[in-house]
Amino acid sequence: MEDLLVRAIGADGAVLAFATITTGATEEARRRHGTLPTATAALGRTLAAAAMLGAGLKDRQTVMVRVLGDGPLGPMIAESTADGAVRGYVTNPLTDLPPTPSRKLDVSGAVGRRGTFHVTRDLGLRDPYQGSVPLVSGEIGEDLAAYLAGSEQVPSVVAVGVLVAPGGVRAAGGLMLQVMPGAPASLPRYLEERARALPPVTQMVTGGATADEMLATALGELSMSVLDRRPVRFACRCSARKVAQVLVALGREEADRLLREEGQVEVYCRFCGNRYAFGPEEVAEVFAAADDGEATGGA
Ligand SMILES: [Zn+2]
Repeated sequence: MEDLLVRAIGADGAVLAFATITTGATEEARRRHGTLPTATAALGRTLAAAAMLGAGLKDRQTVMVRVLGDGPLGPMIAESTADGAVRGYVTNPLTDLPPTPSRKLDVSGAVGRRGTFHVTRDLGLRDPYQGSVPLVSGEIGEDLAAYLAGSEQVPSVVAVGVLVAPGGVRAAGGLMLQVMPGAPASLPRYLEERARALPPVTQMVTGGATADEMLATALGELSMSVLDRRPVRFACRCSARKVAQVLVALGREEADRLLREEGQVEVYCRFCGNRYAFGPEEVAEVFAAADDGEATGGA
């Protein structure tokens, strides 16, 4: 099944509901970064979170989720764009922990239970909107719900999940239900009860449920009206020109040293793992362009 993101209105406007299937994007992230199962699950849940937060973005707007926990995984970042492209990375992709007593991947152990959960919404205004909350559990879904309630004052129910099999990612996706202002006071409780009764997201995805069906299941007896559906995929916006900035930051002397020792300077994109090699001529061009930029005021 293709990766997809669906946004719907529930309960005649009292709920904004999101469902996403991100199996393909998560598998692509796993393949590119060589993540081991626990790291794959952590990154996949964060990619699903970013995809759902990115629903409704327009043009060049982006949403970035940063999970900065004290666990072995190190900082983890996922980003989504208006056209459904998601990308992300974990600092230590080889993080893999023994399963929890309930035989689940120990995402919270990998992320850490202390730290912060950050969201940056770049809506093309002068300053991006930024918010953060302390981590609740490091399981990502609960942390996103705590962020939405605490930082954006939107009571929410969130579920994200990744099923990793020996051959790769079998299922990944998420559900997010947000209670809108003016909703009946009983609604948050109803949604929480629904969420507790729901099968795990990964079970719905492996069972063949579509994103629409996942939403309908989550909303139960509430009415549902789909706003939009958009494909989701792993894609990066890096380019040789963008990563050349890393080269400039490195400095001409260091670049020259690497050229002497290695014959080229290799820069890789953390988001997607693509590698860009700069030979002597390219290095000279990059620094000439950087000098020009400075002379004209950095335009
Ligand atoms: Zn990239």
